[in-house]
Amino acid sequence: MEGNKRQEPMTMPESKRQKTLTSLSDEEMAPATPSDVDMQDANENNVEKGIIDTLDASKIKIALEECKILVIGAGGLGCEILKNLALTGFKQIHVIDMDTIDLSNLNRQFLFRKKDIGKSKAMVAAEFVMSRVPGVQVTPYFGKIQDKDDEYYKQFQLIICGLDSVEARRWINAKIIEMVDEDDMEHTWKPLIDGGTEGFKGQARIILPTITSCYECSLDMLSKPTTFPICTIANTPRLPEHCIEWASVLEWPRVWGSKKYDTDNPEDINWLYQQALTRAKQFNITGVTYSLTQGVVKNIIPAIASTNAIIAASCCNEAYKLATCVAPHLNNYMMYTGDAGVYTYTFEHQKKPECPVCGNESKTAELDKDTTVSQLIEYLAERSDTQLKKPSLRTATKSIYMQAPKALNQATLPNLDKLLSEFVSEGEYITVTDAALPVSLQLKITWKNA
Ligand SMILES: [Zn+2]
Repeated sequence: MEGNKRQEPMTMPESKRQKTLTSLSDEEMAPATPSDVDMQDANENNVEKGIIDTLDASKIKIALEECKILVIGAGGLGCEILKNLALTGFKQIHVIDMDTIDLSNLNRQFLFRKKDIGKSKAMVAAEFVMSRVPGVQVTPYFGKIQDKDDEYYKQFQLIICGLDSVEARRWINAKIIEMVDEDDMEHTWKPLIDGGTEGFKGQARIILPTITSCYECSLDMLSKPTTFPICTIANTPRLPEHCIEWASVLEWPRVWGSKKYDTDNPEDINWLYQQALTRAKQFNITGVTYSLTQGVVKNIIPAIASTNAIIAASCCNEAYKLATCVAPHLNNYMMYTGDAGVYTYTFEHQKKPECPVCGNESKTAELDKDTTVSQLIEYLAERSDTQLKKPSLRTATKSIYMQAPKALNQATLPNLDKLLSEFVSEGEYITVTDAALPVSLQLKITWKNA
């Protein structure tokens, strides 16, 4: 695309009317002819079917112009989402991203050029979309979503996420649910459309705060990094990945002892690559390359531009439907699987009553009575529905372990090796907080065989 002449704008001509649906005059709204009355009957039928309005182009256009939408992430998915929204007719788009443009982004993040390397993704993306689609206002913010307060998020009607980070998703999900004020739903209730991709796989979902399940409810669905059985790695390798795992898991510690390899150090990666290559030759395995070695040890899943396009398109169709009510929206989770053939599967993901964000029941941890505080911390990191990396723990009366402030961290550090039963008894609660979540989690402790 680089160096192409600027194309003609691809949007409809600028609107001459800036009225809202509610400010249309009676004349414009009132049925005037018998055919309009027929239309009204048809409308009522449609309402029963879940189609709330007929496809009236001018009303749709106005609804899209009136809808202020926030896009979180201006990367692979974000570029697609911003382009789609602008070409669909959304006029008020905001975009947040804390990243800057890297050379490796340019194959798929098509709003960026070589000259943009090092600049803010959000800012360059906003400029590019506005230069190509006249009449659209894209407002960028170069920073973290956590920098913004409730007032900022309240200005939008819809939020779309095109993120690659679990942490950011957990945060924005908890934020929109925490924001809901039942007496002021109009300003505080914000539907969230979340897209995600991983190689040939992806998903699009809609989160309606307090109504549908939320991101936290589905945390245990996250795919775990691929691991290979150690006996296969040690004795019967069949894949290039097995040889790389052998080099990194078994051969590196045998040769280098406790020294850890650095996945950003080309010398270390090269060493692993050479070892894996030698082993692959012994077993007649092909396909070990430097970049595969890097991919396996860094656990990198290649980003695929066309998977991003599919998922972004699905998210934007849902945004269009939510903004205009022309058709029923996704309910509520669509999986796209392109790595084992191609299929999609849509289902209604259920709310979890014990979800710390949208549920009202507490989680229970059934532990051995000799569990130490540090073992509980490990448990919270590994448990699929908590996945907390840096939790702080306290009871109603005392701090068990605190990550911050520093003084409190120092004071509670000796507790890590103590038994949990010194702090809580059967059936008591621990309040768990973590920077990953703007809310706290109540954990009921029970003892195995108690
Ligand atoms: Zn939830």
